Amino acid sequence: MGITVAETLDDALGAVADRPGAQVLSGGTDFMVEVNFGQRRPTDVVALRRVAELRGFHRRNGSVELGAGLTYSRMQQPEIADLVPALAQAARTVGSPQIRNAGTLGGNLGTSSPAGDTLPVLAALDASIEVASARGRRTLGLDELIVGPKQNSLEPDELIVGATVPVASGPQEFLKIGTRNAMVIAVCSVALVVDGEGAPCAARWGPPDR
Ligand SMILES: Cc1cc2nc3c(=O)[nH]c(=O)nc-3n(C[C@H](O)[C@H](O)[C@H](O)COP(=O)(O)OP(=O)(O)OC[C@H]3O[C@@H](n4cnc5c(N)ncnc54)[C@H](O)[C@@H]3O)c2cc1C
Repeated sequence: MGITVAETLDDALGAVADRPGAQVLSGGTDFMVEVNFGQRRPTDVVALRRVAELRGFHRRNGSVELGAGLTYSRMQQPEIADLVPALAQAARTVGSPQIRNAGTLGGNLGTSSPAGDTLPVLAALDASIEVASARGRRTLGLDELIVGPKQNSLEPDELIVGATVPVASGPQEFLKIGTRNAMVIAVCSVALVVDGEGAPCAARWGPPDR
C-alpha cells in the first residue's frame, strides 16, 4: 500500500490528482473501521492529518470558516463553541475522548452518514461546503454534497476543504437520541438555531431505515 503524507493542501490535491483511486485518510475513525471489517481495501492512501491549512478556523465578519481537519476536541473549545455553540454540543456527544481527538469535520462529511452528528448542525446553519481539486474550487450546499445515505457528490480528485457557517446571533441547541446515554450512534438528532436577525430554522437528521 502506498501512503502519501501531505504537508500542504496543494500537496494533497496534487497527490489525489496524480494517483487515481487514491483514498483520503483524515482521522481514520471511520476509514480504519471499514478497513478492519474488510469493507475498504485501499492500495493508495493520501493522509491529510499534517495539512495545517485544514486544521484551523477563521472568523470573517459574520461567518466562521471551519477547516475540514478540525477535530471534535477542538470544536468543543471555547474559541469555536462561542461562535457555533450547537457544533460544540454535537462534538461533545461524539464517541470517546480518543475518537474526539482524531475524528474530524471533513471525515464526518466525507462519510456522509445520516447519523453524522455535525450534519444537522450544518444543515440548520445552511452551511456552505468548500471542496477543491487541482482543477479548482467549488462551493456546495449540504444537500448538494450529501446525495444519499453514505453517498456524496465528490469527484475522485476532490477534497473537502471546510464549511462556512454564520456566527451565532441567537440561541442554538443540538440534541441526540441513541440507544443509550453515551458513546452511541444517533437514532435521531436535531439542531435548532435561532437566527436573531431572521426566522428560526430547524433541521432533523436521522437514519432513514429506522
Ligand atoms: C467508536 C466510534 C464512535 C463514533 N461515534 C460517533 C458519533 O457519536 N457521532 C458521529 O457522528 N460519528 C461517530 N463516529 C464516526 C467517526 O468518528 C466520524 O464520522 C468522524 O467525523 C470521521 O472523521 P475522520 O477524520 O476520522 O474521518 P476518516 O475516517 O479519516 O474518513 C472518513 C471518510 O471521509 C473521507 N474524508 C476524510 N476527510 C476528507 C476530506 N477532507 N475530503 C474528502 N474526503 C474526506 C475519507 O476518505 C473517508 O471516506 C464514531 C466512530 C467510532 C470508531
